[in-house]
Amino acid sequence: MVLQIWCLTHDSDKKLGGGYLLFPVIKVAYTVHTLTEWCCVTEEGGGSELKAMDAEQLREQGHMMVDFIADYYKTIENFPVLSQVQPGYLGKLLPDSAPTHPESLQHVLNDVQEKILPGVTHWQSPNYFAYFPSNSSIAGFLGEMLSAGLSIVGFSWISSPAATELETIVLDWLAKALLLPHDFFSTGQGGGVIQGTASEAVLVVLVAARDKILRTVGRSALPKLVTYASDQTHSSLQKACQIAGLNPELCRLLKTDSSTNFALSPDVLSEAISNDIASGLTPFFLCATVGTTSSTAVDPLPALAKVTKPNNIWLHVDAAYAGSACICPEYRHFIDGVEEADSFNMNAHKWFLTNFDCSVLWVKDRSALIQSLSTNPEFLKNKASQENTVIDYKDWQIPLGRRFRSLKLWMVMRLYGLEGLRTHIRSHIALAVYFEELVVQDTRFKVVAPRTFSLVCFRLLPPQNSEDNGNKLNHDLLDAVNSTGDVFITHTVLSGEYILRLAVGAPLTEVRHVHAAWQILQEKATALLESL
Ligand code: PLP
Repeated sequence: MVLQIWCLTHDSDKKLGGGYLLFPVIKVAYTVHTLTEWCCVTEEGGGSELKAMDAEQLREQGHMMVDFIADYYKTIENFPVLSQVQPGYLGKLLPDSAPTHPESLQHVLNDVQEKILPGVTHWQSPNYFAYFPSNSSIAGFLGEMLSAGLSIVGFSWISSPAATELETIVLDWLAKALLLPHDFFSTGQGGGVIQGTASEAVLVVLVAARDKILRTVGRSALPKLVTYASDQTHSSLQKACQIAGLNPELCRLLKTDSSTNFALSPDVLSEAISNDIASGLTPFFLCATVGTTSSTAVDPLPALAKVTKPNNIWLHVDAAYAGSACICPEYRHFIDGVEEADSFNMNAHKWFLTNFDCSVLWVKDRSALIQSLSTNPEFLKNKASQENTVIDYKDWQIPLGRRFRSLKLWMVMRLYGLEGLRTHIRSHIALAVYFEELVVQDTRFKVVAPRTFSLVCFRLLPPQNSEDNGNKLNHDLLDAVNSTGDVFITHTVLSGEYILRLAVGAPLTEVRHVHAAWQILQEKATALLESL
């Protein structure tokens, strides 16, 4: 090693013009000194020098990490599902600067166990019923591992042909499993692409739709473009409108209520569009949702498409959570009407056993995306791209670089098969049905929105003559339940009512966990009602 350093230092000085005989000697002396110090410290730290990459070291330390993660899953129920730490807890436990010298993996893992895990909210815990699920699975994990192992950056076909081609194939497989119309397949004018999140998906199609309409009506119409959605649509649409430079006042979140089970009414949409046209505005985009975040409402796609089509409005379908269920024949009808949509999105990382992140977007007209998102700098030019014979996914997304995410989706689909995935979905829906029945049997509670998939929306009814309309009561109930650390559920507000949401979807959840969650809810409800 000393000899190597000598040559390097000597060489570089020679390149500089040479002549300074003393300089290399001083430099070598210094380098050897620091290296010796470094090696000593590494040995004190308990391990041999960790190289940037060495197959045997990877094998050894990789096994340690897999053991650590497997043990985590084995004991996951011992942790409070919702982290109970206070803000700023970690700063008190970790040093305020990075180590000068290398430490051993064992030291780091000890810190993970003692300092990091207490601050983790355990999304994969079987007692996790919050927000929507974000599934991990062995297949998804192995796919992530392989992707990290290959560590490619697949922005264009040439940068890793398999990454591009596997993505195209796997998304055609999934489109087929969802019975999407042929227009969404890569063999036609459309195709699928993996985005990081549903937020990125809606942004890229919004931008494509914006530019498409502006090509027709002229760029000066930008301030007049109107976007439509319901007031139940995920906030990612509003963020997309902000980023896309659209007039924020023309992002119309049309009102819904219990009369349509919080789905967007085609009549309300039609009226809004007519009014906007009459005012000289230009309607151009509708984001419909199948499985809204608050209550899993399903916007009626066929009827909405009858309104958007004649008005030349881009119809995007956000099925971030519920899309996964549509691989089951009995739930496929929820996306009937997708034939009329311009784009369709689901998060495989939510309910499709694919570790975060993997949001799947299909478009019917890939050229619209490409026109908005492509750049063609000299340093990326290559024969395949220039001959137009390949897909360059860099032109279908915001960043240039992209991970080999299709590997994990491919592994999930192969290692579980579509039937395995259907069983996964059905088992969660059955558990949600079970929970719903428990709620219905206790007359102190009420189910407040229809349970369509694996989310149950419910609330504790306030006692008669109570001044509180139930909002404070349910807020307090949520706090009491979550502070046990034994279960984690979240809330929403529907028509001004504070309500509780229990979403089944963690892969380890069994009937006993649902039952235990309900017992905690009942106990805390009893205590709260008695304290009034
Ligand atoms: N759309 C719906 C219906 C959602 O429920 C969510 C998140 O839960 C999103 C979009 C945003 O998802 P992401 O975090 O992938 O951007």
